[in-house]
Amino acid sequence: MFTAKEISEINNLLKPENNIVIVTHYNPDGDAIGSSLGLKHYLKAKGLDATVITPNDFPKFLKWMPEAKKIVIGEYKRKLAGEAIYNADVIFCLDFNAPSRIGILGDWVSKSRAKKILIDHHQMPEKFDYIYSDTTVPATCQMVYHFIQENHDEKLVSKEAAECLYTGIMTDTGGFRFRSTSATTHRIVADLIEKGADPAIITSNTWDTNTLSRLHLLSLVLGRIELTKDGKVAILWLKRSELKEYGFDKGDTEGFVNYGLSLAGTKMAAFFMEDLYEDFVKISFRSKESVDTNQFARKYFNGGGHINASGGKYYKTIEETISDFKEHIEQEDF
Ligand code: 5GP
Ligand code: MN
Repeated sequence: MFTAKEISEINNLLKPENNIVIVTHYNPDGDAIGSSLGLKHYLKAKGLDATVITPNDFPKFLKWMPEAKKIVIGEYKRKLAGEAIYNADVIFCLDFNAPSRIGILGDWVSKSRAKKILIDHHQMPEKFDYIYSDTTVPATCQMVYHFIQENHDEKLVSKEAAECLYTGIMTDTGGFRFRSTSATTHRIVADLIEKGADPAIITSNTWDTNTLSRLHLLSLVLGRIELTKDGKVAILWLKRSELKEYGFDKGDTEGFVNYGLSLAGTKMAAFFMEDLYEDFVKISFRSKESVDTNQFARKYFNGGGHINASGGKYYKTIEETISDFKEHIEQEDF
């Protein structure tokens, strides 16, 4: 939570004459887009206009969200994004902890004179003017709702805001399953449903959207899933040539890593994917219980995230990456 003093200062900044920008992380997920649009809808109900900017494009299955089409995507609209950040008086930084996580926007945001307000649940946030950081909350969307509660503004949560916030909580908790999902999370979700978020429609819009390319890629990945560290670690991977062959589209591999964790006896899963254009391997880690993938990703794979969900980038071939991973994981104590 923000302190009472911080809340009052933040509210002083939220005036119609101030330019408000909302930015979120590279490769935005449901929580990134949901929290950004959810906050935008809330501010709209307060009579304020905010511009949502992402560093790069986001998956099709999130484009149904109210006003998703108005998001300024930095990789396509560089000038517009740069100008909006340059002219901003207030920048909300949602669902990331460091400027390095927002790609080309990072430099602009760092240099901006705007007051920067962080709302995020990743570990070890860097410097911002106002910080609401809590790693025990499963989704930034839940934190945006707490921020609204702190302002006693629940009545301003429209159906559109509720739909966006519900989506991010649903996706970041893996469908209300992951460890930090709490009674409070469910109470907020209940509020959001009462405000018009329809669980069946949102689930269907977000998750019943498989494409043939995605299912074919999934069958390939599942067909060769491999276990290491006495069955405690599952490894999945995809090569660039395979992505091309199957007509990969952004978001197609989202959630693949979770299949590794669904294997009985596993404590961690790692998914390796060659980038489509550049020579690096994008890695996703997921784990159960106290197995700390954040530390592991930071230590070996230039990454980070949360204890049970993290990621990284590695500038070697996929074979070398997996081989290095196998060596490092043997040294871990679990
Ligand atoms: P995903 O596997 O879904 O891409 O990412 C899982 C989590 O790890 C997300 O919360 C994301 O913010 C974080 N993450 C993914 N890749 C990186 C990375 O390269 N660096 C850092 N610091 N965090 C990452
Ligand atoms: Mn998140």
